[in-house]
Amino acid sequence: MPHDLPKAYDPAAIEDHWAEYWVREKLFAQPTPSADAAGKGEPFTILLPPPNVTGRLHMGHMLNQTEMDILIRWRRMSGRRALWLPGTDHAGIATQMMVERQLVSEGTSRQKLGREAFVERVWKWREHYGGVILDQMKRLGASVDWQREYFTMDEKLSIAVREAFVRLYEQNLIYRGAYIVNWCPRCQTAISDLEVFHEEQSGHLWEIRYPVLDAKGKDSGKFLSVATTRPETMLGDVAVAIHPEDDRYQHLHGKKLRLPLRTSDQSNRVIPIILDSWVSRDFGTGAVKVTPAHDPNDFALAERHSLPSINIMDDTGHINAESGPYAGLDRYVARKRVVADLEAQNLLAGIKDYVNNIGHCDRCKTVVEPRLSTQWFIKIQPLADKAKEAVRQGHIKFTPEMYEKTYFEWMENIHDWCISRQLWWGHRIPAWHCAECYKITVPKPNTKGDPTACAHCGSKKITQETDVLDTWFSSGLLPVSVFGWPHFNTENRADTALSDFRDFAAFYPTSLLVTGFDILFFWVARMIMLGCWFAADVPMLDGSPRPLAESVPFREVYIHALVRDANREKMSKTKGNVIDPIEIVKQYGTDAVRFTLASMASPGTDIAFNVARTEGYRAFANKIWNAARFLFMNVDRAAEIGIVVDPAALGKMPEAGQDAPLEDRWIVDELQKTAWNVNKSLEDYRYDDAANEIYQYFWGCLCDVYIESVKLRLDFSETANKEQTTVALTTLVRVFEAALRLLSPFMPFITEEIWQKLYEGNPPVRSIALSTYPFKELDWLAIHNRGVKDPGFQMGRLLELKTAVLALRKEIGIEERAWVQIVLRCDSWIKNRESQNGLIDVNGELFGRLAKVSRIQQEENTGAIFPEITRRSGPDYEVAVIPDGSEKKIDVAAERERLTKEIAKYEKGLMSAERQLGNDVFLSKAPPPVVEGLKKQEADTRLLLEKARAALIVLPKE
Ligand SMILES: [Zn+2]
Ligand SMILES: [Zn+2]
Repeated sequence: MPHDLPKAYDPAAIEDHWAEYWVREKLFAQPTPSADAAGKGEPFTILLPPPNVTGRLHMGHMLNQTEMDILIRWRRMSGRRALWLPGTDHAGIATQMMVERQLVSEGTSRQKLGREAFVERVWKWREHYGGVILDQMKRLGASVDWQREYFTMDEKLSIAVREAFVRLYEQNLIYRGAYIVNWCPRCQTAISDLEVFHEEQSGHLWEIRYPVLDAKGKDSGKFLSVATTRPETMLGDVAVAIHPEDDRYQHLHGKKLRLPLRTSDQSNRVIPIILDSWVSRDFGTGAVKVTPAHDPNDFALAERHSLPSINIMDDTGHINAESGPYAGLDRYVARKRVVADLEAQNLLAGIKDYVNNIGHCDRCKTVVEPRLSTQWFIKIQPLADKAKEAVRQGHIKFTPEMYEKTYFEWMENIHDWCISRQLWWGHRIPAWHCAECYKITVPKPNTKGDPTACAHCGSKKITQETDVLDTWFSSGLLPVSVFGWPHFNTENRADTALSDFRDFAAFYPTSLLVTGFDILFFWVARMIMLGCWFAADVPMLDGSPRPLAESVPFREVYIHALVRDANREKMSKTKGNVIDPIEIVKQYGTDAVRFTLASMASPGTDIAFNVARTEGYRAFANKIWNAARFLFMNVDRAAEIGIVVDPAALGKMPEAGQDAPLEDRWIVDELQKTAWNVNKSLEDYRYDDAANEIYQYFWGCLCDVYIESVKLRLDFSETANKEQTTVALTTLVRVFEAALRLLSPFMPFITEEIWQKLYEGNPPVRSIALSTYPFKELDWLAIHNRGVKDPGFQMGRLLELKTAVLALRKEIGIEERAWVQIVLRCDSWIKNRESQNGLIDVNGELFGRLAKVSRIQQEENTGAIFPEITRRSGPDYEVAVIPDGSEKKIDVAAERERLTKEIAKYEKGLMSAERQLGNDVFLSKAPPPVVEGLKKQEADTRLLLEKARAALIVLPKE
C-alpha cells in the first residue's frame, strides 16, 4: 500500500521522528540574507525569552513556547521571512548556587577553590547539564533557528556587554557610590528591588527609652521613647529625629541622647536629637531612630543632616567589629541580646505584636537586609525618558493594552539601576582600581584587551573590579547583541563582517516579544531602554540616521497569562498541584497538549489546565488519523481503476464551481470562511478562537458531515460514474490537505505525518511547515447577499431537517436501520413541486441517505397548524414522520416539556435580539450585513415562538 498509516494513532511513534527531522534538516534556519536577497519577504522575528541555563521546562514555558511557535509557524507559512531565535541566560545567582551546592556535597567550597577555578567549574557544569531546557524544546518541536543558538556568556555577546558598559561610563551614565541596597546574606550579593518578594510576618514592635542628657552630658533622668521592629539596628544609630512642630517634644530641641547600648569599650555613643519635617507625628511615639546604613529613609535623612553612616553588619548578616561586644553575633541572636540588655536597664517601655511586611530574596528565600554598600549604578535618565517616548509615540504596542499603563507607572517611578552583583559567575565589570591614586580606569570604547596601567597616574598596580554585572544587563542587550552589535559598528569598520550588519538591518527591530508579566520590568523595560539607546547609533542600511521607530527592540509585546490547575489554583510545589508538561506530553502527545493550551489562550485570561480537555484533543487527533486512513484507502482504491487526484492543485486554496454538488460547495466555502477567521484571530492573539474554529471545521464539518456525505459518491465499482468519483475524491483530498495546513501550526506532528504520507514521501516542499497557509480574501457583504443561495445556509437547513427527522424517529421508536416516509411543509426554496429545483429536490439522494427517508409527502406551507402532534418546526418548514403503526405511543408529558423549554429559549433569544436592535450605539457601529442578519434572526425566532406556542395548545390533555 502506498499510503500505509498504522491503524492506531500513537503520538510517541511519530513525534520523536519529526522533531529530530526538523532539527537535522535545519528546516527553520533563517540565515543572514545575502546582499541581493535583502528585500525578499517581510521579516517576522521573535526572540525567545532566554530560559536560565539551570532551567527545566514548566507549564508556563510550554504555554509561552506554544504561543510563539503557533505564531511563527503561521507567519512562516504566510510568506514572511520568519526567524525565531533561541538561547539561554547564564543566570548569575541561580547557576552559582547550583554549583556551590555541588561543591559542598564534595566537601569543598567556592572559597576554597578560588575565583578562577570556580568559574572554570561552572563552565564545566554548563557543558554537562546546561541546555536541558533547549533539548526539551527540540523534542516539543519548537520551530526555532538552532543555528543561531546563543549563550549570554558567549564571547561575542560578552564583547557587546563590555562595550555597552564602557560607552555608558564614557557618557557619564554609570557611576559608583555607597547606597542602601537589598542585601542577601545567603547569596552575599546585592539584589534589585525586583528580586525581592515581600511577605507578611508576625513580629514585634519594641518601644525603647533613650536617656536624655543634661547640659553637662549626664543622664537627666528623662527619656525619649522610640519604636522599632529591628532593635539590633540600634547599634548603628546616629540620631533620633522628631518633627519640628511636635508640641510634645519642644523642650527636647537641641538636646542629646545616650545610646543605651555599649558599642565600644570606652563609653556609650552620644547621639543628637534632630528636627525633620519628614517625621510623621502620628506614627508610633513620633520619634524615630536614625540608622543610615540600614534603612533607605534614614539614609536620606542622614544625608540632609550630614550625619555619618555606621554599617553594623558583615556580608553574612553577622554583627561586625563596629559594635564591640556584639561583634560576631548573627543578626537575630544580636536582636535577642539587645532586647535583654535593654530590659536589664529597665529601658523597654513596651512590646507589641506587629505584622511586618518583610522582604525576602527571590532566589533563596532568606530575609533581605537593607544595607549600605558600594555598588555600580546606571543613571536611569535619559534612558528611561527615551524608553517612555518610544511607547508613547506608538512604536511599541502592548497586548493586553492594560500593560502599557503598568509600564508607564513603573517607568515614572524608576530609580537608578544597581548593576553590580557580588558574584563570581557573570560578566566581570570592566573597571580597574588603582592602588596608588585610587582612581578607576575603564578602557576606551572599541579597545580590545585589558588595560595594564592606570589611566590617571600610569601606575601598574591596578586590579580589576571583583563584582560582576547584573544578569539583566546582558539580557537587556540581547535584541541588539544577537544581531551582531557592536561588531559592525566599531572604528575599524573595514575589517568587520558586513554580513553582521545585514543581519541587523534585516531583523532589527524584532517583530514581537511574547513573555510573562513577571519579567515586564526585569527584562522588557530594560530591553526597551538599552535597545533604544544603543540601536540609535546604528545607521539604517542606506546610511541614514536611525529614527526612534526603528531603534525599539520590538514592535509588539504580548504578555501571556498564567497556567493554573483545573480548579483555577496557582500551581505550586507546596500545594502539590504542579503539572509537569513532559509527563503530560508522554501521556497524550505534544499535539494534544499544545492544542489544549491554544484552545484556552487569549489575551489577559489565565488558563485552567484540565487534563480532561487534553484527553478530548487527543481524541480529536485520533479522529483526524482515522479520517486520513479513510481518505488513503479511497485514494488507493481509486488508483486501482486509474483515478488520480491532480497533485498540482494541492497546496492551494480549494475552490468549487457553481455547479458542484452542494456538499462540495459547502465544505469549500466553510474552509474559506474558517481560514479567514483563523487568520484574523491569530492577528488578534485569539489563539482560543483560532483553535476552536479549526476544531469545529475539522471535526464537525469535514469528518462528521462532509466525509459522511461524500461517501455516497465514492463509487469504485465497474459500473461507477468515473467522472463523478474523480470530482468527489479530488474535493475530499484537497479540502483535507488544506485543513492539515490550517491545523499545522497548532498540531505540527500529526499534520506533518499525514501530509508527508499524502504525498507518498515526495512532497513539493520538505515539510508541511514550509507550505502555504490557507487564506483567501473574502467579500463578506457579497456572502451575506447570497441569502438562501448561500451553501452554508442551504447545508444548515438540510442538516437541520436531518436532525429533526432523526429526533422524531427516535421519539417514536423507529429502528435505526429502517427507512421512513415523512410529511414536509416548507417554502418553495426548500422543496418546489413545480420546478423541482428546491433544496430537497436537488439533494434528495443525499438527504434521503443521511436521514434514512424513502419518500417525502409534500404539503402546502399554509401556515396552519400541522395535524400530527410530533413534528419539528423551522422558520420555513415543518416536518413529521408518517407513522406506519409499529410505533410506540407518544409521550405527551415529554413533548410538553420539550415545547415549554423551546418556548423559554425563543423568548430569551427574542429579548436579546430586541435589546440589540434597540441599541442605537450598536446600530450605528455594526456593519449593515450584521444588522440585516440580526433582523432576520429576530423574525425567525418570532415565528418559531409562535409555532411552538400553537403546538403546545393542540397537545392532547393527558
Ligand atoms: Zn539569596
Ligand atoms: Zn592611578
